[in-house]
Amino acid sequence: MAIPPSLDAAETPGPRRKKILFGILRLALALGLAGFIAQIKLDYIEAYFYDLRTRIRPAPATTGHLEMIFVDPVTIRDLKRSPGFGAHARLLEILSTASARAIVYDLDPTQLKGSDQDRARFLRVAAGMPNLLFLTDDLEMNGEEGKLRFPAPFDKLRVAPGPKSSDTSNFAKDGVTRRFLISYQDRPTAHVELARLFRPRIADTEKVRGRFSFLGTEQSHINFRPPRSYPESSLSDLIDGHESAARFRDRIVLIGQDTQMSERDYARTPYSRESVGMRSAEVHANIIDTLLRNDAPARAPLWLNLFFIAVVSVLTVHVVFAMKPTRGLVILAFAFAGFTFLNFFLFWPFAWWVSLAHPLLAFFLCYYFFIPYRLIIENRRSWEIYQKHRLLQQVEELKTNFISMMSHDLKTPIARIQGMTDIIQRDPTPLSNGQREALDTIRASGDDLLKFINAILQYGRIEAQQVPVRRQSRDINVILLDVIRRHEFLAKLKRIRLIDELEPLFPIPVDPELMGQVFSNLIENAIKYSPEDTKVLISSEEKDGRVVVQIADQGPGIPPDEIAHVFMKFFRSKNARSSTVKGSGLGLYLARYFTEINGGTLTVESSYGQGSTFTIELPLQHTPGE
Ligand code: ADP
Repeated sequence: MAIPPSLDAAETPGPRRKKILFGILRLALALGLAGFIAQIKLDYIEAYFYDLRTRIRPAPATTGHLEMIFVDPVTIRDLKRSPGFGAHARLLEILSTASARAIVYDLDPTQLKGSDQDRARFLRVAAGMPNLLFLTDDLEMNGEEGKLRFPAPFDKLRVAPGPKSSDTSNFAKDGVTRRFLISYQDRPTAHVELARLFRPRIADTEKVRGRFSFLGTEQSHINFRPPRSYPESSLSDLIDGHESAARFRDRIVLIGQDTQMSERDYARTPYSRESVGMRSAEVHANIIDTLLRNDAPARAPLWLNLFFIAVVSVLTVHVVFAMKPTRGLVILAFAFAGFTFLNFFLFWPFAWWVSLAHPLLAFFLCYYFFIPYRLIIENRRSWEIYQKHRLLQQVEELKTNFISMMSHDLKTPIARIQGMTDIIQRDPTPLSNGQREALDTIRASGDDLLKFINAILQYGRIEAQQVPVRRQSRDINVILLDVIRRHEFLAKLKRIRLIDELEPLFPIPVDPELMGQVFSNLIENAIKYSPEDTKVLISSEEKDGRVVVQIADQGPGIPPDEIAHVFMKFFRSKNARSSTVKGSGLGLYLARYFTEINGGTLTVESSYGQGSTFTIELPLQHTPGE
């Protein structure tokens, strides 16, 4: 049946314009949402991804200019207490001969314990070391010059501002140290001063990679190496003489504490959010190394981040609207995996930090925002299809009923015409040749019409599921022979030989009338479509527990592109339609239906131009339900 135009996929200019408009609307929505998403603060999630990227990449190299000395548990065990002025004076005496570039204390000397004598000794040695400085977290503001000092008698010691910033009240607010100060109020920090010892070009702090301004300071991100990346010694090993100080030559030596007694001695870093994640002196070493290598991670420019958010939003919205759900999800998953990979790849070798949290949010928001809309559209579409389907069903039913009614009403007048023709034909009154020919034509046309009407009536019964199956135990050969006999006259007209090769069979339970009609349709087709002077072979045998009947002709065969359709109702091949062979296109449809309700199968094999073979297989036993 032809599909009504409303269901046709053909596009008219109207829907196309609507589609373009809808596409523009979708794009605008996606971009609007992208703009909105870009405004949301996602520092915490972004920092989480930042840390992840830091952790899973291979550790960056160190410069080799840094050495660490720790007051560690070994020192406390060996000295039986925390090292005081005496131990530190001894350490400084050893270091004073080591020719280090700088000796940097990351602890508060005023908190050290010891006798006055030891303290005086410590201060004396320290005063004689121009390369010694003490880091502090405090900053000296403009106008406060000279205020950054220890109280007397420590006021001669050189104190330098080297704060460790942590994201406590700004950025990710998770207490993790990720950034460092390059300068504040245009004054460089101690880290910059120390890095200049090896890299004088750092004088120009504007050249520091990844630099950004924040509340009057210039900052950048620390390119962290994992904990324990720097060579380190225990303070006690040095003062006991177990280790030589010779390796500190030309190095920056950082002295820190690792006794797990004060949180100030540690920092949370991307490697660990534990409060003792990394020792404070190590954080300073990482800052100095970042400056020395000038390899601080640099944030991608805002426009690039916006671009990625927009691309993800547009892609997600497009996928949600235009693709099948599973396919769309697979594409999105791949796109997102690709983007994440690119993100990590840019961070690892190039220390480029492209935002990941915003595109991720864009993906989720766009997906969950538009999916319900898509569902509504789909729902409406299936409702429309359902309605159209119902309408088509009703039309189909009406048509069948109408055809059945018409056919039924036509049957009586035709039967009357046939009867009258019979009477005239049997009447002994001589007729002229013309009259006899006209009578024969009336008879033949009446037969054709009756066949057609009967086929239509049977089709109507099938549609209404009103075909009763009356099984009787019958020998299929008997039914076949009867049908062959009835078609002999038709075959003779075309000089076609009907050859039967029937093996003796046991009776099987079938509806003889329906099966007779099946054979009749097939044999009639074989004769109808075959050329004159050919043969039609009708065979029967018992094979693999089934009765197999084959009707093979030497006719034109069925083209490969039509063979799948020949059992469809009202199907007639192109050749049949253009030839004079009459037919309704219902013969094979009815034959297959009747075979199947008898529990059998009907198939065809045909090579175009070389005849066709129709095969019916019937079970020996009746299985209830068939
Ligand atoms: P019809 O009334 O057209 O014969 P059928 O349902 O019996 O309808 O057959 C459907 C189509 O299958 C026919 O139009 C014809 O093209 C093809 N067909 C059926 N039997 C044969 C055959 N023995 N040889 C060639 N083509 C056949």
